[in-house]
Parts: sequence; structure tokens; C-alpha cells
Amino acid sequence: AKDAGGAEHHRFEPVLHASAEERRQLEVALRKALGRDEMELHYQPVVDSRSEAVVSFEALLRWNSIDHGFVSPGKFIPLAEDTRLIVPIGRWVMRKACEEARNWPEHVKVNVNVSPEQLLEPGFHEEVVEALAASGLRPERLEVEVTESIFLRDASVARNALEQVMSLGCSVALDDFGTGYSSLGYIRKLRFSTIKVDRTFVQGAAQGSAESLAIINAVVAMAKSLDMATTAEGVETAEEAELIRNLGCDKIQGYYFGRPMASQDAQRLFSNPSKL
Ligand code: C2E
Ligand code: CA
Ligand code: CA
Ligand code: CA
Repeated sequence: AKDAGGAEHHRFEPVLHASAEERRQLEVALRKALGRDEMELHYQPVVDSRSEAVVSFEALLRWNSIDHGFVSPGKFIPLAEDTRLIVPIGRWVMRKACEEARNWPEHVKVNVNVSPEQLLEPGFHEEVVEALAASGLRPERLEVEVTESIFLRDASVARNALEQVMSLGCSVALDDFGTGYSSLGYIRKLRFSTIKVDRTFVQGAAQGSAESLAIINAVVAMAKSLDMATTAEGVETAEEAELIRNLGCDKIQGYYFGRPMASQDAQRLFSNPSKL
């Protein structure tokens, strides 16, 4: 048994080694990404579920690495978080998103994802103040998106940081709701403007899952009674959009209404509204 275990160990070692090496190389490249101008933001429309008018765009980071080609956020964001590179990258995202949103119509907001490592940095509030000042964007047009995971680390620091941002006039959305640690206590204490219902529930409900349907109903009811809005994420079909509308979600985001697009394309939508 000992020999077999040893053999197995040897068989798997190169695989583990390769992925650690790949990770190391990716980290080296990620460290240089901003300086090499490899990052850009794409924007995905969020529409009002009834009028279908665009109310916001969510900024989504894209990395086209000289060394590794296109790397998905699902891969490099966790790496950026582990290495704390998300702090400078996140600062760049905040600045860039405010700057680009400044050119959109006044009623359209921009949603910016903020990682726990970034939010919990002492300078986060100043970072937001500076991004707003540099761009001239009204604070009311910026909505910060955080996930429940911010409460796992240092809940009171996270809460303070969010309250500071809210005091500027910005709003805060709770992203991926229902997929992680449930922070119902914090929903009561913090005035989130929007709760984003994760795509897994949208998909589940559309496929006839009674549990997903019940969860969306419960989230919508809770949000209404707390005076918060709901956004359904990942709506891909007309059927899903119709279902979500009937469930009472206020806003919809997903491929059905628009994929994340380059900044110029988002901008172009406003000069050619029929394309919406
Ligand atoms: P998220 O914040 O939940 O963003 C929504 C993700 O769902 C995006 O993936 C978007 O492209 C995708 N999506 C939108 N509509 C649909 C749909 O109808 N169907 C499907 N299957 N997917 C849809 P993306 O761009 O790959 O980003 C993945 C995650 O990476 C984001 O999830 C967010 O957690 C993180 N992320 C992206 N940009 C940033 C950023 O600037 N800062 C931070 N901290 N995280 C970011
Ligand atoms: Ca998000
Ligand atoms: Ca989400
Ligand atoms: Ca997500």
C-alpha cells in the first residue's frame, strides 16, 4: 500500500507542479499588466425590467496579456485577490469606470465591482473621492458592487467603509446574493440600494426548480420591504426575462439584453438608441 501511495504521489506531482508554475507566470504577467496597458473595461447594460431602458452599465475587467493572451476574470481576479494586486488594479478600475461613465447620459449609472481586499484597505474611501473628483462624475451615478464575502473578514471595517462611500452619495449593491455566506444581519444594518440575484437562481427558476423560484420570491419580498431594488443576473432568453419580470425583479442584466461590450460600443448605444 505504501508503494502504491508513493507511485501515485509521483504521478500527480508534475501536474501540481505545472499548475503552480503556471500560476507563478500568470502572477508575473499580472504585475506588469497595468503598466503594459493590457487591461480594459467592458460594460454590460442593466435594464429596467418594465421599460427595458438602460439604467446602468456594469464595468467588467478584461485582461489581454501579451504573454498569455486573453485571461478570463474568473481566473485572474482570484489571483489578483490572493496577491493583493487587486488593490492597484481595483484603483485603476474605479478611476477608469468613473472617467468613461462621465461621457454617458446623466441618468445612466456605472456599477463597479470591489473586492474585499480593496474595500478593507484604509485608503479605499479616498480612492473613491479621487476617482469622482478626477472624472467629475456625480457620486449618485456610482454604484459599488460587493459580495457577502466582505463580511467574512472584518465585518465592522467593511461596514464602515461602505457607510463612508454611501455618505458621499454613492450607492452599494449586494452582488451574487444567495451564493455565499448569508449576511441577513448586515442587510438590516446597511442600506444597500440593490440586491443582485445570482444567475444560478434565474436559471433554476426557468428550468422549473421550485426551490429557485421560492428563493427569488423571498429575496424580492425582502428587498421590497427593506426599500431595496432587485436585479436578476444572467438573463439569457426572452422566457427568462418574462419570468423574472413576473417575479417582480426591478432590473435585469444578461446576454438577452446585452453582452459586456467595449467602451466605444457602450458609448455608441447612446447616439443610436434604437440599438438598445
Ligand atoms: P460578476 O460581478 O457576478 O459579473 C457578472 C458576470 O456574469 C460577468 O462575467 C458577466 O460577463 C457574466 N454574465 C453576464 N450576463 C450573463 C449571461 O446572461 N449569462 C452568463 N452565463 N454570464 C453572464 P465576467 O466578466 O467573466 O466576470 C466574472 C467575475 O469577475 C465577476 O462576476 C466579478 O466577480 C469579477 N470581476 C470582473 N470585473 C471585476 C473588477 O473590475 N473588479 C473585481 N473586483 N472583480 C471583477
Ligand atoms: Ca458584479
Ligand atoms: Ca454577480
Ligand atoms: Ca459572480
